[in-house]
Amino acid sequence: MDRTDPHKESHFTEFLKPSQVVFDLSADDKVQALEELLDVLVKENLIKNKKPVLTRIIDRERLETTAIGDGVALPHARVNTGSNIVVAVGYSKGGVEFDAVDGKKVHIIILIVWNPALPGLFNHLFAGLAQFLRRPDFRERLYSAGSKTELYGVLSEIHLSLPRSDDQIVSRGSLLWRLQEIQRDKKKATGAVMKKLTEEADFIRGELDESLLDRFDRLMERYGFAVSEVEDGACMGCFINLATGMSSALEGRNDIFVCENCGKFIIDSKKKK
Ligand SMILES: [Zn+2]
Repeated sequence: MDRTDPHKESHFTEFLKPSQVVFDLSADDKVQALEELLDVLVKENLIKNKKPVLTRIIDRERLETTAIGDGVALPHARVNTGSNIVVAVGYSKGGVEFDAVDGKKVHIIILIVWNPALPGLFNHLFAGLAQFLRRPDFRERLYSAGSKTELYGVLSEIHLSLPRSDDQIVSRGSLLWRLQEIQRDKKKATGAVMKKLTEEADFIRGELDESLLDRFDRLMERYGFAVSEVEDGACMGCFINLATGMSSALEGRNDIFVCENCGKFIIDSKKKK
């Protein structure tokens, strides 16, 4: 393995077989379209129950629409389906009403269900898709596809840069840091600010795995903070120097380590943003 490059090149079609593409959705509203795509995933044996996944996706949509404009929607939910990531794509010539940010109907719906244990994988997939879907020429070719084969052909051009293994992925360190900031800000917040902070916190929690959050909550309760920075090789939570190996492993990384002395999460001070 090439250790200088933590990413591997991958294609969207690694997650998407032609049978997971609906060429012309019959739905004309959001919920129908989501159901139509979930039915495909059930039929393909990629998910067992449609209901809980649908509920999670709709909850997520309530928080903020995933119809990002220009005819594209990326509804998603974090549910353990037994696979890492499950994807379905629907195309609608006439368009689907999806509460899009620009008020336009949606023509391409990419539905993603991912395993909560692998938050980083989803972030990378999402970022990769967005990169292609932002290009007007690429969208134009998607929308003018005349058949499922043609559509699949265009989708197969999407390539992704995915992390090689989960521990190298993630921005979990900065997510936890942000969550800690939010939790502190919430103590003085009211009204609309409070609502916004709560939504952001819920969203971040949705991206992180249970065991991590469990530990985070216990530390917050006990000490009022759970994540501390490392400066000049010392944990700023307990001011004890870390073992040399540990502090160099941490440097420049954005992942999470735990201080052996005080048990708090520690992140490189340069990486907290
Ligand atoms: Zn410490």
